[in-house]
Amino acid sequence: MKTPFHIMLVPTLGCPSHCAYCWSSEEGSPVMSIETLREVAEWLRDFRDDPATVTFHGGEPLLAGAAFYRQALPMLAGALSRQGCYFALQTNLWRMTPEIAEVLAEYRVPLGSSIDGPREINDLQRGDGYFDKTMQGYEIARAHGLDVSFICTFTRHSVEHREEIFQFFLENGFTLKLHPALPSLRGSEPEKWALSPEKYGELLVYLLDQALEHMGEIDVMNINDLCRCVFTRRGTVCTFADCMGNTFAIGPDGSIYPCYRFIGMPAYVMGHVRDRPTAEDLAASPAGQLMQAYKEFVDGHCGECAHIGYCRGGCPYNAITPTGGEIKDVDPHCTAYKRIFDEINDRLNDEMFNAPSMMEANPFGSRRRKPAKPGVMTLMHRIAMK
Ligand code: SF4
Ligand code: SF4
Repeated sequence: MKTPFHIMLVPTLGCPSHCAYCWSSEEGSPVMSIETLREVAEWLRDFRDDPATVTFHGGEPLLAGAAFYRQALPMLAGALSRQGCYFALQTNLWRMTPEIAEVLAEYRVPLGSSIDGPREINDLQRGDGYFDKTMQGYEIARAHGLDVSFICTFTRHSVEHREEIFQFFLENGFTLKLHPALPSLRGSEPEKWALSPEKYGELLVYLLDQALEHMGEIDVMNINDLCRCVFTRRGTVCTFADCMGNTFAIGPDGSIYPCYRFIGMPAYVMGHVRDRPTAEDLAASPAGQLMQAYKEFVDGHCGECAHIGYCRGGCPYNAITPTGGEIKDVDPHCTAYKRIFDEINDRLNDEMFNAPSMMEANPFGSRRRKPAKPGVMTLMHRIAMK
């Protein structure tokens, strides 16, 4: 059976914006050369027999320019033609041009972008002018038929405006994907913007309610993913699966890491594309062994947790980087995960065991009966039908 894998390709760590809670470098940071890109393609050609998704990530990947993508997309698609290859790109859209949009449209590359809510809230945490620049890029992308979804980072500040932010996504018809701001590993005030696990849990429950209330009007990706996890009893996104061995990231110089979040941290380099490492070589590297050790730690630490099968201890990056690479605990967002998984399971059980029986329900849909509010079962049904 084929096991799809994920490559995050980071053409540069540079980024033109200066979001308060981010760690990217200055705009002039080195960009991946075409020689390195060729090495990446040659490494991937024989790395695995499974289908791959290649996500261009950053920094800001559009800084690499149209010429880079004109070469990268056919080169990678060609190298992975036997296995099957899908592309995606995560960008703030500032440097979107008609030229880049044309190339991306040719390969139907879906775009993920970032906007933290209405202009005022967004620009407070992402910098003056961010909102307008992203929206200009969005218009160019849409004019070329590209699909764009938005990640919304909730911080300690913006979570107090959750109603306004949700309304913004609803009114604009944007799909909402939430990302909690993490303590910065590089800033002088690591907790300044970070969203606490308790607040994150409350926010997820709020978004579950909103997703049910506005079913059919908006997709809240996290809620869909969490429900899918509970429904299938296995993790369906990287945070809730054993990502080790099935996700890798490649930095601008061709170094291979377990995930884009580790890029630029020398201790987490697993190998280099020029050496054509096998999956076994990467697993045997110190970073590969650390990731494996995290998986084993989760088996013990979370053994009694009802959600272990579809949570898997959350994200290893969140768990091990704050302690300098020592495995002392699981993802600090455990509290939030437990809260939302408990909530979904409780509601599901309630709907299953307290629903009116077929005998009681009016099969002819009496007009007098007030229609029940959609619950998680209805949402799961919609997700399954997609
Ligand atoms: S380290 Fe975290 S963000 Fe990266 S692939 Fe694993 S779960 Fe996902
Ligand atoms: S909810 Fe917490 S205890 Fe349960 S599996 Fe996830 S990280 Fe482990």
